[in-house]
Amino acid sequence: MKVLKFGGTSVGSVEGLTSVKNIAESAQEAEIIVVSAFSGVTESLLRGASAASEGDIAFRSFYDEICRRHEEMMSSLFGESSRRERVSGQVHLLLDELKSLYEGVYALRVIPKKTGDQIASMGERLSSLIIAELIEGAVRHDSLNFIKTIEVSGRTLLNSSLTEKMVRNEFADANGISIVPGFIATDSVTGDITTLGRGGSDYTASIIAAALDAGSLEIWTDVDGFMTADPRIVKDSCIIDEISFAEAMELCHFGAKVIYAPALYPVLPKEIPMYIKNTFNPSVSGTVVRRTTRKSKTVTGLASIGNMCLLTLSAPSMVGIVGVDSRLFGALKSRNISVFLVTQSSSETGISVGITADAIEKARVAVDEEFASEISSGVMNPSIVEKDLSTVAVVGPELKMSKGVAAKLFTALSECGIGILACAQGSSEHNISMVIGKENLHKALNVIHKSFFHSEYRELNLFVCGIGTVGGRLLEQISGQREVLMKEKSLKLNVVGISNSTLKLLDSDGIDLSTYRERMTQEGVSVDTAGLRDGIIGMSLPNGIFV
Ligand code: ASP
Ligand code: MG
Repeated sequence: MKVLKFGGTSVGSVEGLTSVKNIAESAQEAEIIVVSAFSGVTESLLRGASAASEGDIAFRSFYDEICRRHEEMMSSLFGESSRRERVSGQVHLLLDELKSLYEGVYALRVIPKKTGDQIASMGERLSSLIIAELIEGAVRHDSLNFIKTIEVSGRTLLNSSLTEKMVRNEFADANGISIVPGFIATDSVTGDITTLGRGGSDYTASIIAAALDAGSLEIWTDVDGFMTADPRIVKDSCIIDEISFAEAMELCHFGAKVIYAPALYPVLPKEIPMYIKNTFNPSVSGTVVRRTTRKSKTVTGLASIGNMCLLTLSAPSMVGIVGVDSRLFGALKSRNISVFLVTQSSSETGISVGITADAIEKARVAVDEEFASEISSGVMNPSIVEKDLSTVAVVGPELKMSKGVAAKLFTALSECGIGILACAQGSSEHNISMVIGKENLHKALNVIHKSFFHSEYRELNLFVCGIGTVGGRLLEQISGQREVLMKEKSLKLNVVGISNSTLKLLDSDGIDLSTYRERMTQEGVSVDTAGLRDGIIGMSLPNGIFV
């Protein structure tokens, strides 16, 4: 038996759903299919609720839009058939319930937690009804009956032991195709509807796979798998075909939102392999996440956090002052602020913690309050906040065993003039993190990626200003020598910018020198000194040379 999960984009369009139907119906074994809400629906549900709570009648437009989305989907999938009639009745019951919930919030001007969860749950309840009708022979199983949560200090957590029992019970006789709404649950004590947190459908699928000892778990999404770096920033990033749970965890925590991180926990001890697949590109094999990987490589991938801050607490000498760290973390914990990176110098004169930009002010106040008496007596300094930073994390299976990773990282960054503000090697040693200025993130990721994944050539990026007799001849020479330099010197010259006195042409993918004059006339834009300078800086390329 296997468990498949299809995310919001996979089920959010007729094209996606057609693919889901084909994938589901071609299975050779029993399968449980966990589905998300149609793409964007959970977001609209929550925004509608928040509008209603502010007394803004815009909640009615959110409601109308949600109704329209589901009506249209049913029309496209079922036309006016009897299937449409069957499912439409159930869909309307839920939509009516949603309407009453919204009107209630609007009247009261608050969203009680219970009501908020009921509203949020609608997306999966609706989508699973429609998908169960679409897939031939599928039976719908309602997660509200068997995914159970408990409240612990105001947080909704999975009640694992009860859930495991109930899942086994629910699916004891299941064969063929079962459809299950992801994300939603009920409280073990009150029976109220709860959720597993945003993105929680992955978690539902993993919980079910673990409880039933499934042969595999497939997470179907809209990307080809885990990538060696964010493909929006690093153009030549590639798919990671195999990765361990520990590495996947590091990548997820550091911004690669391929899966919801908690979803890694249930299947991990059972050693159930998790496949990340693309619904829109099913023939690509994707990424498999396993307990241990067979491939030997030093670095698996890069992850990054685009906007973060460092908070540093220091004293002329903290040597021997006991409990500073514990008080610092206590102060942050009491305000629910999470820390994702810690560095401390061994002389103990300072400790820095990485915190997301939205929580930094709250963090600074909390820490300064905690150490108020030490700060006022001068034993400690007020905390220092550095903003507009990014973290780049290098993730690999055994960074502690492999020599030279840190050296390579430092070299790559220093060669393109990027300063490192803090650096941490996690004790898991699957991760080395560097904190740098936010403006350098693009360049840093590209240069680190090149040095670990494409180190065949050293690359230079050239901007050539002036294409008359001298400049023109230079470009001819570069064009003639390019192959030779690559072969004999492992040096790759990319001309990424050309300008004359009136026009400029910038292209970070490189300009083909056999046709640059034609491209200049067709695509060149008018040039002035400041614009050219800003254009070049904006491309943020490593190893740049201006001629
Ligand atoms: N629909 C929920 C969300 O958008 C859960 C999920 O898609 O995994 O957060
Ligand atoms: Mg989702």
